[in-house]
Amino acid sequence: MIPFNKPYLTGKELVYIEDAVKKGKISGNGYYTHLCQDFFKIKYGFHKCLLTTSCTDALEMAAILINIQEGDEVIMPSYTFVSTANAFVLRGAKIIFADSRKDHPGIDEDGIEALITKKTKAIVPVHYAGVACDMDKIMDFANKYNLLVIEDAAQAIDSFYTGRDGVKKALGSIGHLAAFSFHETKNIISGEGGMLAINDLQFAERAEIIWEKGTNRSAFFRGEVDKYGWVDLGSSFLPSEIIAAFLWAQLENLENIQQVRKSHWEQYNIELQTWATQNEIQLPVIPTYATNNGHMFYLVCKNISQRTELIEKLKRKDILSVFHYISLHSSPFYKDSHTGNQLPESDRYSDCVLRLPMYFELDVEEILQEIKIQINYER
Ligand SMILES: *Cc1c(COP(=O)(O)O)cnc(C)c1O
Repeated sequence: MIPFNKPYLTGKELVYIEDAVKKGKISGNGYYTHLCQDFFKIKYGFHKCLLTTSCTDALEMAAILINIQEGDEVIMPSYTFVSTANAFVLRGAKIIFADSRKDHPGIDEDGIEALITKKTKAIVPVHYAGVACDMDKIMDFANKYNLLVIEDAAQAIDSFYTGRDGVKKALGSIGHLAAFSFHETKNIISGEGGMLAINDLQFAERAEIIWEKGTNRSAFFRGEVDKYGWVDLGSSFLPSEIIAAFLWAQLENLENIQQVRKSHWEQYNIELQTWATQNEIQLPVIPTYATNNGHMFYLVCKNISQRTELIEKLKRKDILSVFHYISLHSSPFYKDSHTGNQLPESDRYSDCVLRLPMYFELDVEEILQEIKIQINYER
């Protein structure tokens, strides 16, 4: 059977976990946490990084940090994972859903301005499949209307955006804040795990306090204050050293992991061109300002029945493909709170996106053969 996802282990995970345990300090914010955080700062230019227990937690921290209050509005795509919205709903925000682009499931940047009101506090672009949103457009709106931008970079590790200034910037380094995921379905994993990147330094000090359960414990351990106590809202957002040690084993191999995933992606992309055209299936589009990070290879089928047929035919050959994201504006939890604007592209992706298996140890050739032999609608 070819699974949809298979977590890749570099071989050093248990070595570093054992070391973390032997170091005698296994809670959080220790040796391996700092190694991982510094790695991200140096490699991608984030100003401050805090490991979290999930991307969901990083988003929740962001919502607290930007002081979301009852009734504040937050703009985001409807075609995304629930955590993108939940984090802000937990603080009382009203979510204003934007449609997706015609050529890509990412947020339709040109539709954002019409959704901005006096109550708008933030925009949360999601870099779907690790492909950049057009961040210049989004940051322009943020500057014009004094809004904050939180990048949902859950899928976007090691991916980049080149804007009008011609400088190639890492995703997660452009918005005021950004959230990453190391869930076992992502490129770099720690089982569950995540990280908040803080680019706007006005948030740096408070982020650390929220992270440490609302206390100034971090400053205390650095000797900056002589006692620590409850100074703000917060929660237990930091992972243990055991998780950070696992993550470090992955980060050490980031180049290799990325190279292999991208080559799988390229193979799918090149080999499926003719087949896709023949069957009216859309392959992923990478805009010129964006890069591909090999996170996900997806197809956009021509309709839901074609997608269902494809899933079933692949399953009969023991290949597991999956679809995802019921648009959040039509979810059982939020449909009654949705403002009612039509989001046809978001609905289309909900019906038509199909994700093919993608993981380090994948044999793409095996899948390509089955797809091309078994599934041809022209016959
Ligand atoms: C995976 C994912 C999340 C959630 O990440 P967790 O680490 O599982 O909390 C949020 N947003 C998007 C777009 C994701 O793909």
